[in-house]
Amino acid sequence: MNPNLISVDEALERLLAGAAALADTEIVPTLAASGRVLAAAQRSGMDVPPMDNSAMDGYAVRTADVAAPGARLRVAQRIAAGSVGHALEPGTAARIFTGAPIPPGADAVVMQEQCEVQREVGGDSVTIKVKPKADEWIRRTGSDIRKGEVILPAGRKLQPQDCGLAASVGIASLAVMRRVRLGLFFTGDELVMPGDALAPGRIYNSNRFTLNGLAHAFDCEVRDYGIVPDNLEATRAALRRAAAECDLIVTSGGVSVGEADFVKPAVEAEGELLLWRIAMKPGRPLAFGKVRDSSAAGRASSRTSSFIGLPGNPVASFVTFLWFVRPFLLRLQGVAEVAPRVSAARADFDWTEPDARREFLRARWNDQGGLDLYPTQDSAVMSSTVWADGLIDNPPGVAIRRGDSVRFVSFRDLFA
Ligand code: AMP
Ligand code: MG
Repeated sequence: MNPNLISVDEALERLLAGAAALADTEIVPTLAASGRVLAAAQRSGMDVPPMDNSAMDGYAVRTADVAAPGARLRVAQRIAAGSVGHALEPGTAARIFTGAPIPPGADAVVMQEQCEVQREVGGDSVTIKVKPKADEWIRRTGSDIRKGEVILPAGRKLQPQDCGLAASVGIASLAVMRRVRLGLFFTGDELVMPGDALAPGRIYNSNRFTLNGLAHAFDCEVRDYGIVPDNLEATRAALRRAAAECDLIVTSGGVSVGEADFVKPAVEAEGELLLWRIAMKPGRPLAFGKVRDSSAAGRASSRTSSFIGLPGNPVASFVTFLWFVRPFLLRLQGVAEVAPRVSAARADFDWTEPDARREFLRARWNDQGGLDLYPTQDSAVMSSTVWADGLIDNPPGVAIRRGDSVRFVSFRDLFA
């Protein structure tokens, strides 16, 4: 392999070594916390359930009163969810509903399907048609969560059900990490925005849309500086502006070392830069560095913004965002576990001419539970990313035969 190329894992390791979690946290209502990253572990201040309660609509009984099926008990009380009964006298049953507290003395609930009610003038009685076991259909205090137990760890990206769990123990607000301020700009004299006329030789700035969408998927506060022309001064000016406002700057294009590629000299002039040629396909050029904040406030504190320069090629910038920017962003947000979930999947295709670089092949599930490959893996073909469900992570130089097991990472797992 080309000795000037570094491996994907080496690049990732070096990149993540420069990603320290942001120090600032904020308090948000639990109702607005979904998608945010939890800054501190949350403990439950109560047992869940907070009292023994019924798991069924039925009758609460003392098992000692039902030595055999057919026992008949007087229905002495009725306990609906939200109300509290009183001690169960021997020889009686309590009509009870799901979620209602078990009255003292009762040690089982018999579901109503296994009971027969006799309506009588002096009050109902009930025939219990089975012999209940102690504890049956009772949810015991603390059986789900014990008071003091950690229910959500720090660094967790909150899912809707996490907020529900916090709310279920009465937590009304949560400390979360501040959102990452992500600056984006797009280099290239050829770029035009959709809606504007496409002159000959021009192309639409599709990366702007892909990268904005990704930034929102990762819950960033986005500053989008738009298209930056291919010259040193414009690129430096965009970097200075972004460095004053952002934690991380991500750009597309201009990181090759051609005559129209100004990202490298611009970052070098405004900070420091490592330019890597990575042994991956799509991908290859990736720039990583820091940009000094030269605003008044920045000069006083000598703060810097992190910088990641992605290739301009649409598929390459999409894949390198997912593989490099994603874990970097998660680390800034304080998420510890950033490796994407990889599953073993069956290839239902042949891939006979693998590249010497590690490949990220666009593939999707078929109805037989295997993976199909998009017919063209050219990195300019955006359609492949729309068609696919995810990426096959194929090691350098490994041919794939129909039926082989491959490593698959789904977009769904990468977008979180
Ligand atoms: P570069 O990395 O600047 O050499 O660009 C590589 C290829 O990607 C060229 O064909 C560019 O025209 C294309 N490209 C660069 N930036 C974008 C963009 N923002 N949207 C779509 N294509 C782009
Ligand atoms: Mg360019």
